Amino acid sequence: MTSPDAVAPAASFATAQVQHGFEPGVHHRTAVPAIHQTAAYEFASLQEAADLFALRKSGIIYSRNSSPTQLILEERVAALEGGVSAVAVASGQAAVAITLLALAGRGGHIVAANQLYGGSVDLLQDTLDDFGITTTFVDQDDADAWRAAVTPQTRVFFAESVANPIAQVLDIRLVADIAHDAGVPLVIDNTVGTPHLIRPGDHGADFSVHSATKFLAGHGTSLGGVVVDLGSFDFGAEPEKWPQFTRSQHRFGDVVPWEKFGRDRAFTVLAKSKYVSDLGPALSPFNAWQILQGIETLDLRVSRQSSSALKIAEHLAAHPKVAAVHHPGLAGNPWHELADHYLPRGVPSVFSFDVAPSGDEDEIERVARLIDGLETFRLVANIGDARSIVAHPASMTHNHLNAEQRAAAGISLGTIRVSVGLEDPADLIADLERALALL
Ligand SMILES: *Cc1c(COP(=O)(O)O)cnc(C)c1O
Repeated sequence: MTSPDAVAPAASFATAQVQHGFEPGVHHRTAVPAIHQTAAYEFASLQEAADLFALRKSGIIYSRNSSPTQLILEERVAALEGGVSAVAVASGQAAVAITLLALAGRGGHIVAANQLYGGSVDLLQDTLDDFGITTTFVDQDDADAWRAAVTPQTRVFFAESVANPIAQVLDIRLVADIAHDAGVPLVIDNTVGTPHLIRPGDHGADFSVHSATKFLAGHGTSLGGVVVDLGSFDFGAEPEKWPQFTRSQHRFGDVVPWEKFGRDRAFTVLAKSKYVSDLGPALSPFNAWQILQGIETLDLRVSRQSSSALKIAEHLAAHPKVAAVHHPGLAGNPWHELADHYLPRGVPSVFSFDVAPSGDEDEIERVARLIDGLETFRLVANIGDARSIVAHPASMTHNHLNAEQRAAAGISLGTIRVSVGLEDPADLIADLERALALL
């Protein structure tokens, strides 16, 4: 296989995740992608430098925007998502930020799900708000709320394919149709879903973003983020609404991104050459390489984690000291039917359960006894790792919420989030049994 195009990603996910985007002949015949550890790249001539800076020619100038290792990662994730192009950056947080900045433009409005990752909520309601980009949050299951939140300034809808800690499954097609009726793209954070379990583009989404730190890397060693343009949104249909794509950009020698780069690359060229370049969340070549190593085993890991998580969820659901298990693979879960429809290969391995309260013990002390009693599960603020992890949302990710806001988020003081790793599920169940017996 010498050409990246020779791998048909739709037909062979497992082949694409190992090979796509890497051409040994171009990359000095190393068998595995190399780490190009250099800040900058030498130009063949002044003419070439001028052409690269003016976007007349594509190539690599400086590691803030790109590196050969990063380009392979971008092509590979784009292929796995069924997209047309991608931008990789330093973290998932940066991927969300540059995506929303590029789409919202000056004074834009965002409609976002209430159920988003806490870092995204902070970005939207605090930092982007400071810059005049406002957000209306809606219950992601409420179609009328999405519709009612649209204003003439709305430029993007944003939600997660599968949220956490409660593992709500989004009806992507429903929300995509409402976004398109409003003339705006739908961006899906597919960090928890992963392209192995769900490809948002197959259900109408227009952009897919990832914290590559989680399942794509899978080893818990490296931060990274990726945004994939799924190639479906037509910024040319209402050109006056999208001047960042359809008007000439002085900084690029009056290039019009939509005309010069077309549907496949206008977004990623703008995101990279403007937002990543100006704000600087560059992905290090080493982290790009680490994430590529992880992706080679994505389907194997995610399948194993998904099946282990379902076994653990079923076990917990039958446990007398567990009040509820929030796993959409279980019959009776409010998102079970959506999971059947959108996640036929399995449900993600991030879910949660509620410890049953006891009349005479403080709930936090009870949860602490359980968590501190775990030995195989680790108390870590991360997900998608090879190691199994627990977290306590009420004192960690959701610690600034009051009781009412916690209830709205579907969590209680007794809720414990689980991210199932690659250990033997029997050992993980035994660990939970031992810790629950301490209550
Ligand atoms: C972790 C996470 C992010 C942020 O990613 P970082 O790589 O930590 O910056 C965004 N969205 C979701 C769903 C996440 O889990």
